[in-house]
Amino acid sequence: MSPLIESEEQKALRAAVATLGTRHGRNHDPVELWSEAAKLGYLGVNLPEAHGGGGGGIADLSIVLEELGAAGCPLLMLVVSPAICGTVIARFGTEEQKQTWLPGIAEGTRIMAFGITEPDAGSNSHRITTTARRDGDDWILNGRKVFISGVDIADATLIVGRTEDARTGNLKPCLFIVPRDAPGFERRQIDMELTGREKQFELTLDDVRLPADALVGDEDAGLLQLFAGLNPERIMTAAFAIGLGRYAVSRAVEYARDRTVWRQPIGAHQAIAHPLAQAHIDLELARLMMQKAAFLYDSGDDTAAGEAANMAKYAAGEACVKAVDQAVHTLGGNGLTREFGLASLITVARVSRIAPVSREMILNYVSHQSLGLPKSY
Ligand SMILES: Cc1cc2nc3c(=O)[nH]c(=O)nc-3n(C[C@H](O)[C@H](O)[C@H](O)COP(=O)(O)OP(=O)(O)OC[C@H]3O[C@@H](n4cnc5c(N)ncnc54)[C@H](O)[C@@H]3O)c2cc1C
Repeated sequence: MSPLIESEEQKALRAAVATLGTRHGRNHDPVELWSEAAKLGYLGVNLPEAHGGGGGGIADLSIVLEELGAAGCPLLMLVVSPAICGTVIARFGTEEQKQTWLPGIAEGTRIMAFGITEPDAGSNSHRITTTARRDGDDWILNGRKVFISGVDIADATLIVGRTEDARTGNLKPCLFIVPRDAPGFERRQIDMELTGREKQFELTLDDVRLPADALVGDEDAGLLQLFAGLNPERIMTAAFAIGLGRYAVSRAVEYARDRTVWRQPIGAHQAIAHPLAQAHIDLELARLMMQKAAFLYDSGDDTAAGEAANMAKYAAGEACVKAVDQAVHTLGGNGLTREFGLASLITVARVSRIAPVSREMILNYVSHQSLGLPKSY
């Protein structure tokens, strides 16, 4: 199937989610929306049917997030709970882990956060120092994380730590399920300029004791397993950005059609119309790249999906920032009022340029991996 043209099922999914999103709108109650979307089967569209999901892929889940975003009510935890954590557990978890987590994630009754970023590592995830050591059958985790979304509403956080290779002494990445109330697992909310249900937290893990089955997947295949989750994260961040950008453009178009200060509505002036047309084109192009990335990922080509997911995230983040900026500008003074609610989107839009991997780190990746240029770091 070509990623260029969505299947009939995907078109129907897009239309149905758009209807749900329009009903909830910008002033939605996120808890209510989450549970209604769950009941309709949207939260777990990508998860296996055998474990309560819809049996689709990241392409389907990205449609859900984009359409909710385009209606002004994106659910950020979709990026984390079903897309990263659900995918990693579905692909690499034990049967018991799948049964414990996947049906709840799909039904929306259980949420999982994801923690990789560390204060002293930031963009350089090779430098993370959260370490896991064995103590009998148990694991003991120590470390710090920062900017981790939704830890307070998540039943557990999938923490990226490292274990020591017994042979070489090198540290390799490993994924651990850390329950919210695990002794030694503390969180502190970061005061962000964002107003959403999903707050960001700084985490400390101080001798957190976990049972053997807290480890997800193979201790020796950490990097591969990690990227199985990070590629969906990038694709979903692109969906988040495209949805948000579409929402902003549609509000601006609505306004520009009516607002008249000379003889014509301001939308007749090309200085207003063209940048909105450009924003629309950029969002459409970003979506095309996102669909390619999702198609590659869903067909099992993790390597090709990696490059496409990075490019899609980059394109969508840039398109979103410009779309929101132009939308705010289109509304003149009203662009900065609470009534029209666009100015706060400037902050939200920037998230997709920074997280989960910044614009510069994607440009680095493309310079080195795609173009073969040397590294500066
Ligand atoms: C709202 C929000 C939600 C988040 N949610 C999560 C989450 O749920 N889980 C999680 O693990 N993380 C989360 N993050 C963290 C996010 O992934 C990081 O902020 C991001 O990876 C950047 O890391 P940093 O903030 O440490 O920036 P830094 O690494 O300190 O980078 C700062 C600046 O320097 C630039 N820079 C760094 N290195 C280079 C280089 N080699 N070349 C050129 N430029 C460079 C960067 O591009 C950036 O502009 C979230 C962040 C935000 C803002």
